[in-house]
Amino acid sequence: MTQQVLGWAGSRRLLRVLRDIMKGGGTAQERLDQVVRLIAQDMVAEVCSVYVMRAGEVLELFGTEGLKPEAVHTTRLRNGEGLVGNIALHARPLRLADAQNHPDFAYRPETGEDPFQSLMGVPILRDGRVLGVLVIQNVTQRNYAEEELETLETVAMVLAELVASGELVSTEESHSDTAALLPVRLPAIVLNEGLGLGRVVLHERGIVIRQTVAEDPEAEHIRLRAAVAEMHSALDELMRQASFASTGGEHEEVLASYRMFAEDRGWLNRIREAVNGGLTAEAAVQKVQNDTRARMAEVRDPYIRERLSDLDDLANRLLHHLTGGNDSGPLGDQLPDDIVLLARTLGPAELLDYDRERLRAVVLEEGSPTAHVAVVARALDIPVLGRCRGALAEARAGDEALVDGDTGQLLLRPAESVRDTFAESMAARARRSALYAETRDLPPVTRDGTRINLFMNAGLLVDLPQLAESGADGIGLYRTEVPFMVRREFPDVAAQTRLYGRVLEQTGDKPVVFRTLDVGGDKALPYWRGNDEENPAMGWRALRIGLDRPVILRQQLRALIRAAAGRELRVMFPMVTAVAELERARDLVELERARAQSLGEDLPSTIRVGAMMEVPALLWQLPQLLAVTDFIAVGSNDLFQYVFASDRGNPRLARRYDPLSPPGLRLLLSLADEARKAGVDVSVCGEMAGQPLDALALIGCGLRNLSMAPRAVPAVRATVRSVDLPPLARLMRELAEARDHSVRERLRGYARDRGIAI
Ligand code: PEP
Ligand code: MG
Repeated sequence: MTQQVLGWAGSRRLLRVLRDIMKGGGTAQERLDQVVRLIAQDMVAEVCSVYVMRAGEVLELFGTEGLKPEAVHTTRLRNGEGLVGNIALHARPLRLADAQNHPDFAYRPETGEDPFQSLMGVPILRDGRVLGVLVIQNVTQRNYAEEELETLETVAMVLAELVASGELVSTEESHSDTAALLPVRLPAIVLNEGLGLGRVVLHERGIVIRQTVAEDPEAEHIRLRAAVAEMHSALDELMRQASFASTGGEHEEVLASYRMFAEDRGWLNRIREAVNGGLTAEAAVQKVQNDTRARMAEVRDPYIRERLSDLDDLANRLLHHLTGGNDSGPLGDQLPDDIVLLARTLGPAELLDYDRERLRAVVLEEGSPTAHVAVVARALDIPVLGRCRGALAEARAGDEALVDGDTGQLLLRPAESVRDTFAESMAARARRSALYAETRDLPPVTRDGTRINLFMNAGLLVDLPQLAESGADGIGLYRTEVPFMVRREFPDVAAQTRLYGRVLEQTGDKPVVFRTLDVGGDKALPYWRGNDEENPAMGWRALRIGLDRPVILRQQLRALIRAAAGRELRVMFPMVTAVAELERARDLVELERARAQSLGEDLPSTIRVGAMMEVPALLWQLPQLLAVTDFIAVGSNDLFQYVFASDRGNPRLARRYDPLSPPGLRLLLSLADEARKAGVDVSVCGEMAGQPLDALALIGCGLRNLSMAPRAVPAVRATVRSVDLPPLARLMRELAEARDHSVRERLRGYARDRGIAI
């Protein structure tokens, strides 16, 4: 502790001198030279250098104490090149006692850095952007202490002011504005479906920190305390006002857990420590925010990322209070009437800051399907795109933007004709919805009289009202992992029973297929800190975990059996790879059923057990599988990612291989044929079931049960009602023998010629 106090005192003294230099006279370059000299002295380093990010992602040596002066403005590194480039690329610090033997070390003879063995460097950050890198080096193999790193990071905060001021490099240089006016199309993943058309609002609260070095730390602590208290009450008010509060559902839990984070001791303590180190309250918040962002760049676990992104959001909020902002009402006054909100990440409460009436869509550079903001957006019915790389760099505030949450694309500054077509398809969609509402009660029967069952997929309680609205025949896939993912801890049997009970209650007489926990891979739970896997999509996940940790699976089955007392229970297992796995899972169902019976509990009237067809190996065990399963659900998202060895979440590969191709159709045809002969129901519940053209192919291949996102049901119903099956079935067999990479366009032409609604 004493050492820490001494450390803070040292850091405060250094910051004061730094502030005096920065406020002093001379050119920016002269001040920078003084700064590097001071830091080298104070931190007992032979070298201190500052690299500044210039246009074209190049890091240029701008000032140095200890390296050869002629290297200044000559030595340049690409972002990612060498240790300095590594620090900039990952926006994270490095501390190396033996830097020269690090694999990323890039030798630059002009700098004369041969004698220096150790290196410590930190990014110079501002608003999440890397402006440069600050480095110290020593001749000896020095093990830099944690506290020294803290000091260097604090100094970098102050330096960020100088670099961002534009005095060293003109700020315009960092953008290549010529490209800005061209239309851009960026791929993304869909986090919530729908279309949105509006003007770009960049979600950056635009807080300018005027002072980074504190005059009086005590006064800063007082400001910080006041701002934290203000933030807490503003958050309470925000959550209270949220128009959809108390409707029941996981989004409420998401918001509650976010609210708890605002009290997080560790986070607040780190900010207090930075104030102790000599920063103003707002600079301290930003420093901790920088650390959080650096961690986010490294962490792959979606659960931890989500927590970090909540902290990032809270930091923005706190900065807002510190700089005198007022969070009382939704943002909107100065904003356009049709907001397409662009952000790197967005917290669930940040979404509520915007006026719901004006918000047309949200686009995130990061974000996963279980991102908290996606859960809240689902409750509000706002389209959301995620993993839209480059969106912030390409967009300018006020740009026109089209968000296609059907195909997963963002279009910026679209040509007039594209915008008109998009607006037309939005209008057509609205007309169709009105029409669909009228056709909701018409049965999905083909022209030749074949009944196709249309189910919906769900994962949250907020999805369930759509069962009645869409007129679906039931829930063909209830993803039980979704509620698990938005919780902080594993729900026990009683909590699960309540949850499944509510699902069954709300679905009434219609059937529900519960899929047991499909976690692992990219679907992480906080209580499943699995090993870091090289290849998570093919890793320890889903039923594999369930069979290796049967207690968890049995608890879930127990809860399902209890919740379904007196009615039919349908349960299916994800990622079945071998028939023996399904048999073992069935045994567990039977064990739980027998247990409930021996305890005198009310039992489900029947229990039907099914397998998901997601792993190609299962296709070659069909006769054996059909003998032991009550039904099959094709998870086409996973099945085709494995069939084509093509990552389902990689936007670059999004439309590269097509299930509507000879291999895809042959697979579907033979699966449907065999299942029909065995009298076993097969459904398709991957995304393709909800695309009219794909759905057309599926029914043409002999599939009679489709399960899809609720908003897709009316369109697919219209497709079904407009088709004559026998000629379509003949066409599918013919197309399955074709040599085309994709038969999509041929099928589209067929549908158009025959007036099939697609
Ligand atoms: C699938 O893989 O197609 C599927 C329905 O499951 P999920 O998308 O949840 O992996
Ligand atoms: Mg799957």
